[in-house]
Amino acid sequence: MDFSFTDEQETFRQEIRKFAEKQLAPHYQTDDVTGRMTPSIFEDMAAVGLFGLRIPERYGGSEADAVTVGLVAEEVARSNINAGYALLSTALVCDIFLSAATDEQLADWLPSIADGSVIPTLALTEPGHGSDAANIELQAKQTADGWEITGEKTSISLTEDADRAVVFARTGGPGARGVSAFYVSLDHPAVSKARLDDIANRAAGRCSLFFDGLIVGRQDLIGDEGSGFKSVMQGFEYSRAIIGLLAIGTASAALDDAIDYAKNRSTFGAPISTRQGVAFPLVEHLTYLAGARHLCYEALWRKDQGLDHTAQASMVKWWAPKAAVEAIHQALLTFGHAAWSADNPQAQRLRDAMGFEIADGTAQIAKLVVARSVFGRQFAP
Ligand SMILES: Cc1cc2nc3c(=O)[nH]c(=O)nc-3n(C[C@H](O)[C@H](O)[C@H](O)COP(=O)(O)OP(=O)(O)OC[C@H]3O[C@@H](n4cnc5c(N)ncnc54)[C@H](O)[C@@H]3O)c2cc1C
Repeated sequence: MDFSFTDEQETFRQEIRKFAEKQLAPHYQTDDVTGRMTPSIFEDMAAVGLFGLRIPERYGGSEADAVTVGLVAEEVARSNINAGYALLSTALVCDIFLSAATDEQLADWLPSIADGSVIPTLALTEPGHGSDAANIELQAKQTADGWEITGEKTSISLTEDADRAVVFARTGGPGARGVSAFYVSLDHPAVSKARLDDIANRAAGRCSLFFDGLIVGRQDLIGDEGSGFKSVMQGFEYSRAIIGLLAIGTASAALDDAIDYAKNRSTFGAPISTRQGVAFPLVEHLTYLAGARHLCYEALWRKDQGLDHTAQASMVKWWAPKAAVEAIHQALLTFGHAAWSADNPQAQRLRDAMGFEIADGTAQIAKLVVARSVFGRQFAP
């Protein structure tokens, strides 16, 4: 049993922490006000290779293992959890490509993601179908040369800034086996978007997407026709642990700030950190986060070892964002009135971390996946 990261991973973590504190943190609160990601964030993340982490070297990436992506997620989110959306999206999309796309498609698609010239997003959710994504209705009607896509997606992160999207559409009959995945350009007259006025993650640019007869060909199809649902579900097994670490990263920053504040704020003649009522709740949340963090890395380590990690990833999908939100809540209360104005980041961290309680599947759906692996499908809810 070994609980340590390699020297190389630790060195990389420190580099990313410095990078994130310098380049990402200064935009965290200001981008929430403008509702747009500062464009230099994408350029800077690309320049240090964060969009190419999962991409093989021959396509311009660094071929990092999943654990390293987790370390990066934690460090990015400590400074700016919303910049983490781009990290999550590129890692998830690239893993879907690597498991299903042809060599020709990989050569065509991956280098532009690695160098940051294309920001991809993933469009699964529709107005009528979120949790029951196997029943999506976006139509991809067969034509002589390919398909014509018509319908609506909603709640798609990064769409304000994304150039391309992995879009899931119905090419066949009902259910999961009728769903195919396409990699499409969003800069097309047959595609339009409408910005959503979000309560959090405002810089992450969530939009609805409308397709009005977008023509796609076989070269845009990812994997076999009808295999789209399977590929996204496999990708989610990995991205759910990354989401856990994004939430934990921002919660760790919140607790660190609260600990500093508690040591420096005095009431009744002593630092508030000397009161059990202040220190112990913070210790409890540090403990919960440490537990959830271990499980996130176990899921990623299992992925790297080629072991099944479905249950671990789904466990942290419900647990880590919840633990993060509760930790940030306590960190906010530690500040008293000082966190009750927008110049203190705690309230924004609370709102932003909560987004991950829904994005990529809610707690109920994550628990359903765990229940199936524990009880067996036949006996699960
Ligand atoms: C910040 C954010 C970012 C997002 N980014 C993206 C993105 O980039 N791409 C994308 O495709 N989607 C994205 N989503 C959408 C997200 O994946 C869906 O919101 C999510 O899967 C839940 O679907 P829904 O909102 O339609 O809720 P519903 O499926 O309508 O569920 C509503 C409630 O009922 C519960 N519920 C539903 N079915 C069951 C059941 N069988 N048993 C018990 N409880 C159940 C749910 O847990 C939830 O509490 C994002 C969402 C958010 C909030």
